[in-house]
Amino acid sequence: MQSDIEIARVARKKPVLEVGAVLGIPPEELAPYGHDKAKIGPGFIRSLGERPDGRLILVTAINPTPAGEGKTTTTVGLVDGLNRIGRRAVVCIREPSLGPSFGMKGGAAGGGHAQVIPMEEINLHFTGDFHAITSAHNLLAAMIDNHVYWGNALDIDVRRITWRRAMDMNDRSLRQMVGALGGVANGFPRECGFDITVASEVMAILCLAEDFDDLERRLGSIIVAYRRDKTPVFARDLKADGAMAVLLKDAMQPNLVQTLENNPAFVHGGPFANIAHGCNSVIATKTALKLADYVVTEAGFGADLGAEKFFDIKCRKAGLTPSAAVIVATVRALKMNGGVKKEDLGREDVGALTRGCANLGRHIANVRRFGVPVVVAINHFTSDTKAEIAAVKDYASRHGVDAILCRHWAEGGAGIEELAQRVAEMADGGQADFRPLYPDDMPLMEKIETVASKIYHAGEVTADKAVRDQLKAWEEQGYGGLPVCMAKTQYSFSTDPNLRGAPEGHVVHVREVRLAAGAGFVVAITGEIMTMPGLPSSPSAERIFLNQDGHIEGLF
Ligand code: ADP
Ligand code: MG
Repeated sequence: MQSDIEIARVARKKPVLEVGAVLGIPPEELAPYGHDKAKIGPGFIRSLGERPDGRLILVTAINPTPAGEGKTTTTVGLVDGLNRIGRRAVVCIREPSLGPSFGMKGGAAGGGHAQVIPMEEINLHFTGDFHAITSAHNLLAAMIDNHVYWGNALDIDVRRITWRRAMDMNDRSLRQMVGALGGVANGFPRECGFDITVASEVMAILCLAEDFDDLERRLGSIIVAYRRDKTPVFARDLKADGAMAVLLKDAMQPNLVQTLENNPAFVHGGPFANIAHGCNSVIATKTALKLADYVVTEAGFGADLGAEKFFDIKCRKAGLTPSAAVIVATVRALKMNGGVKKEDLGREDVGALTRGCANLGRHIANVRRFGVPVVVAINHFTSDTKAEIAAVKDYASRHGVDAILCRHWAEGGAGIEELAQRVAEMADGGQADFRPLYPDDMPLMEKIETVASKIYHAGEVTADKAVRDQLKAWEEQGYGGLPVCMAKTQYSFSTDPNLRGAPEGHVVHVREVRLAAGAGFVVAITGEIMTMPGLPSSPSAERIFLNQDGHIEGLF
């Protein structure tokens, strides 16, 4: 069997200017990075203002297994399928992080015969956006310590500096450290640490900003530290916002690439789906909507996290109205949700699968609660049996939705035409009546409780007095209208990763809350959330190398 990279390498790529031409982008409005990647110019994006929007389609999933369930693969395949049936469709997905590429999960450019290319470059440095974000983040960090060094006119309490440093690599040794050691000339020693770039608030800001002005305003609103009297110090107080925006000038422009079947794909931005909202950039999505009839986009993790944040944070804030949603399910993940262990997934088990379908059922109901019509995509794996597939279809139809078998991983767009047809009908059918889960003016704690009860089916939300007081303080400071960004395990509706299926009445404990004042959301942390992952005992980096022809091997 061919690996993803082998399939990608022999693809018949079109020059990126031709891909842009399909969307009506004149060559002078594209800034090519080599021959197969390009950034779309800001002037062209501004000129699209009055055009009507195409239809926005979300691809989300049931609670995943550790390997991922194929959301990206299905997003890419669906666009190829839509184009095959004569619809003008574009992919909008996130850029991969180097951390997982060299760690465990692997690349994030799709898989099999449903990939975006050039996959090696998309998975590695790409157009340098993440490096720019890392630089902007660290410029702010350097300016904070420098400000303290030169007399600390802003009266920053060095024990309360909340802005950390960033790097796009999994490196657990950087999580918690002491910096500025070595004497007077090196500043004031203090505890600090690194987060992975995708966890940076700068990443979330880049992905939510509407334009350059909005970008700079949001960067200025980042809270970097507190004074002894607990008043916040903002990035704009340090005059860092202008230079940060300058570093992000090119990174703000959407990247155009193509699928294996030469259809246009925007791969732009990549915020974490736990402490951030987990969607590609607003600017890429909005640009794509002006250029195509159907825009298919992915949200991270399962629908309990990804879709909820896509609707309640991205769509709410950017004024987007999705027309349809696809919930990706796999027989494997449904069986795991029904209690099967990873090593037993190869064996047919209709009983466990049917139990696991409760997980799918809840996601269907949840997505419909947002007023968006739903179809289930069964992402076909070669180990799936006829009886298992029939059981999923049967379950879905009893819940009033279609579940369509999709073979895009093996066959490309030709294997997913039936889903494409159904999605186009749904999106054009005008059945969607999108509404977020809670209103802006609901108190912050109630927003958290609403997500926990309505989406997770929790019985109770608990939080220490300190957490509740903090939320009240932010409401008094004018942040009460922000949406909440839940940081929870992706493996369960509950906060316990081992509690699969569709648990009811569990307790959600909010351990900590964080204010992302620039990005514009309040993060509620339940359980352990890693903002700087580590590498596994045998990282995939050990198997990545250049072959004799100078081609990259081992990148899946
Ligand atoms: P997600 O976006 O949900 O995290 P991806 O689409 O990135 O998932 O897929 C995760 C991995 O699973 C990729 O390596 C991909 O090649 C593989 N994969 C996806 N669909 C299939 C399939 N139908 N059969 C085999 N492998 C698949
Ligand atoms: Mg993905």
